[in-house]
Amino acid sequence: MIDLPRHNANFCAEHLLQLCRRQVDKAIHDHDMFAPDDRLLVAVSGGKDSLALWDILVEAGYRADGLYVGLGIGDYSDASGDHVRAFATERGLHLVEVDLREQYGYDIPTASRATRRVPCSACGMSKRHLFDKAAIDGGYDAVVTGHNLDDEAAVLLGNVLRWDVDHLARQAPVLPARAGFPRKAKPLVRLTERETAAWCLIRGIDYLVEECPIAAGNRHLHHKSVLNAIEEESPSSKSAFYLEFVDKMAPLLAGRSAADAGELTTCERCGAPTTSEVCAFCRLVATSAAHDPVPVELVLGGRGRR
Ligand code: SF4
Ligand code: ZN
Repeated sequence: MIDLPRHNANFCAEHLLQLCRRQVDKAIHDHDMFAPDDRLLVAVSGGKDSLALWDILVEAGYRADGLYVGLGIGDYSDASGDHVRAFATERGLHLVEVDLREQYGYDIPTASRATRRVPCSACGMSKRHLFDKAAIDGGYDAVVTGHNLDDEAAVLLGNVLRWDVDHLARQAPVLPARAGFPRKAKPLVRLTERETAAWCLIRGIDYLVEECPIAAGNRHLHHKSVLNAIEEESPSSKSAFYLEFVDKMAPLLAGRSAADAGELTTCERCGAPTTSEVCAFCRLVATSAAHDPVPVELVLGGRGRR
């Protein structure tokens, strides 16, 4: 039995699976995320959310391949790659792999040092570019990611605290494809991390429990714990905070981000859409690949930020 106060109920294994399937199905249909015969590329990290998502989509009959990006974050990356490969092999699923060090000559700790960005900023930018590129190159209809309700509510809180209209305008559960960018969807936005962990447990999915060591102490985790404290006092306020934003505020902000307003041209090095001659990813690669490798220990304690 799993106790879920926000649903005011206890769930047995079979009903928990049913709840997860229904919530994902509702998210996909309410937001018109993708069609039954679309080809999907699921970004997987080896953690509970992305593996649960891949499993749920495949079980529901979607044509979903995995995409794993090796970030070079010490033992954490080695372990996350092992979990993803084992998951794909056991189920006979197709996995696309990209390794930053092998293919681009850098890793996240080195990029952080070389570009003087906080590690999560260098990481987020690298992942966004590589997810987009893999989806376009592979002819996929959408990139799907395992962001859950806890993630999205925490990001929303951070954006609201700064009234960051640019990021608020792009915080929708689905972003349509536009010039050179693939469609992006987050089918887990109606499920909490407790629910995705329960899905993995019941389905026998061996996920990596350890979180990225760079995440420790970052603002995103702090926002999560603030929301958890509110949720404790007042069950279902977290889902109301995020889902009511999606319902009532997101439509008012649609199309108001800087990226929507900017004129896009093509990166002269990689061909990706960009607002300058050379895209931010190619600039990051050039600076980072020229830098001596930096071990992850040297960037721990630096402020990670998602
Ligand atoms: Fe990347 Fe930061 Fe997430 Fe680690 S916590 S995987 S560095 S975005
Ligand atoms: Zn480029």
